[in-house]
Amino acid sequence: MRAVSAEPSEQSAAARREALKEVLAKARSCTRCTELAATRKTVVFGAGNANAELMFIGEAPGASEDEQGVPFVGRAGKLLEKLLEEIDIKRADVFIGNTLMCRPPGNRDPLPVELDNCHEYLLRKIELIQPTVICTLGNFSTKLLRGDPTGITRLHGQPEILVMGRRAVRLYPIYHPAAALYTPSMLETLREDFARLPALLAMGAPEQPQEVPELADETPPVASEPASAGGEEAEVDQLGLF
Ligand code: URA
Repeated sequence: MRAVSAEPSEQSAAARREALKEVLAKARSCTRCTELAATRKTVVFGAGNANAELMFIGEAPGASEDEQGVPFVGRAGKLLEKLLEEIDIKRADVFIGNTLMCRPPGNRDPLPVELDNCHEYLLRKIELIQPTVICTLGNFSTKLLRGDPTGITRLHGQPEILVMGRRAVRLYPIYHPAAALYTPSMLETLREDFARLPALLAMGAPEQPQEVPELADETPPVASEPASAGGEEAEVDQLGLF
């Protein structure tokens, strides 16, 4: 069961999903990274349950992901799915994304400027999906979300509470499945770390930061724009992503 926050101001799951579709539409035409925008075949936004309790964040799309527009569809993805199955979680129940939405040419490492360009999209996804647990896969996403250079070898398997924007989440760094494909000992460690996920999910959402009430000021309220102002909204084709 999804842990329900008591905050009355929270958007419904349906409203958050609609907002996520708008972020998807924006991402599809993103050209912030000139090189990636010129070389990509698709923007790999992320896929899965838009109201997932568990979210995985990998590194960046590879060739198969770039072809299909879906994250983790190659060998690392198959392993991720298998590890999920072993703990009775279906891929369709989680949301999977990456630090970058576009494939770096030749699968090179993401550049700091690219991570920076894509970060706002990632934070918005997290804000809208409202996961309880975020599993970072490998060094890139772990370092990015923690804002700290400590590597995955030291951090894997150790959950911590992280406040992101206005929400607290349980961050759970684990090895990237691609790293475990060729190293049996790492696969064993990954399996052990996966085995702790159900208990972590069962803990529910961590205590949320107190909302700071806005101070009343002398400024008269500004009328808000109607949601539909500005004309037609294009219907977004979701491609079954979420
Ligand atoms: N596929 C992805 O989508 N992300 C990775 O980090 C690796 C493979």
